[in-house]
Amino acid sequence: MELFEGKKYWTATYERDEQFLTPDITDRFDIIVAGGGMSGLLSSYELARQGYKVLLLEKNRIGEGSTSLNTGLIQYMSDIGLYDLSKKVGESKASEFYEKSAAALDYIEKISKEIYKEIALDTEVKRSRSIFVASEKKDADSLKKEYTIQKKHGFNVSLFNKDELETKYGLIGEKGLETTGDLEINPYKFVMGVAKTSVKKYGLEIWEGAELKSYKEYKSKDKTFLKVRIVARKISENGSNSFPIEVNMTVPKLILATGYNLLPSIKKEIKKSKLVKTFVGVTQKLKSGIFEKVRYAMMWESKTPYNYFRKSAEDRLVIGGRDVSTLKMDEKIRKKQVEILIEKIEKCAPYLGNNLKTPFSYSAIFGESTDEIPFIGPSEKFSNVFVTAGFGGNGTVYAAMAAKMASDYFIKKIYDKKSITRIGR
Ligand SMILES: Cc1cc2nc3c(=O)[nH]c(=O)nc-3n(C[C@H](O)[C@H](O)[C@H](O)COP(=O)(O)OP(=O)(O)OC[C@H]3O[C@@H](n4cnc5c(N)ncnc54)[C@H](O)[C@@H]3O)c2cc1C
Repeated sequence: MELFEGKKYWTATYERDEQFLTPDITDRFDIIVAGGGMSGLLSSYELARQGYKVLLLEKNRIGEGSTSLNTGLIQYMSDIGLYDLSKKVGESKASEFYEKSAAALDYIEKISKEIYKEIALDTEVKRSRSIFVASEKKDADSLKKEYTIQKKHGFNVSLFNKDELETKYGLIGEKGLETTGDLEINPYKFVMGVAKTSVKKYGLEIWEGAELKSYKEYKSKDKTFLKVRIVARKISENGSNSFPIEVNMTVPKLILATGYNLLPSIKKEIKKSKLVKTFVGVTQKLKSGIFEKVRYAMMWESKTPYNYFRKSAEDRLVIGGRDVSTLKMDEKIRKKQVEILIEKIEKCAPYLGNNLKTPFSYSAIFGESTDEIPFIGPSEKFSNVFVTAGFGGNGTVYAAMAAKMASDYFIKKIYDKKSITRIGR
């Protein structure tokens, strides 16, 4: 499945020079992780950090899947607000999920500091506020409800009326909900940093060009193992061997972090997922100081179809939204949708002027769950397989949450069978 069409931005901000060579292929690993995006790398980092021998398989190049298409807004607040989530799963499970999301942000920030210390790479992780704007009166009421419940659970939120929204944020709308403690990130630099740090400090081994094809369970002396079949290219210092080879390995545990490309065996277990197509535009560098007039934050408009924007470290705007259900990639449609996104943003934030151009823009496949909750948990069929499918707008946050949950599951044997993120729900 093609994940995108157009010109990406984040991969243009970092010149990759590292090579991950083919590991010595023997059955000496404790865990294999399939998928080298945000989810696979964070889970590999966490387990390698705890002393496990981890092998990460990536069928293409690490960080170049959905992770590199990400707009890099890291928010504790999910696509589904705490108010609506509480109605769906009960207030206690909903607030627990929100607290885990907030903890995931702290975890990402901590890792970014470690990366900087270890390899001096600035992953552009920075605390920020977010502002959710209700541009129409009918949506203002739901922001009020969201404010009340978040306040009750100790989140640092503020509610702004029309005038305050304009004076504090330069935004036009009926109401605004401000959340604090969110993060901005350069997702591509971050995953590259996680990879390099994990290899250097914790002995993670990475095999690029290696695709996990299938796995099956077998028992030996009362222990359950997995036999995995991999098709891969061998990469040596002289370059890659273009002939794919088939490798069969035995490993006690497996993490599936293959993004929106679910393996058929897991697709059967995850019934509530769906794919849509979304659009992203990245503008020219804006005049320095333009954001100083207003309290800068990441902006999200609650209207459907929604749109959002944030500022990048280079003072560009990263703008996204306008999801559609047709997955076919089409350059003309992309250009039209990105134009509409720009018009909407210029209307909502007049201080940005009306001369925004998009030297980078793309259409991208985006995975969602029909109940707006990610899929994180053990496979219902194979207990040694843990799945991290962080479908939804907060995929990065879910990837961090999943890394902790995978390590709790494999190391401490803890997983709540009634978890709202369980796979087969
Ligand atoms: C346009 C867009 C904007 C987004 N914005 C945000 C945002 O602002 N904030 C946020 O939190 N999230 C955002 N997300 C979501 C977030 O990007 C994703 O949830 C997250 O990056 C997914 O990471 P992943 O590792 O699961 O998937 P990926 O990054 O796609 O990684 C999966 C990897 O697995 C590899 N793979 C697949 N099959 C196999 C196999 N069989 N064997 C080996 N390797 C395999 C792929 O090549 C790929 O590299 C956005 C997503 C999109 C598309």
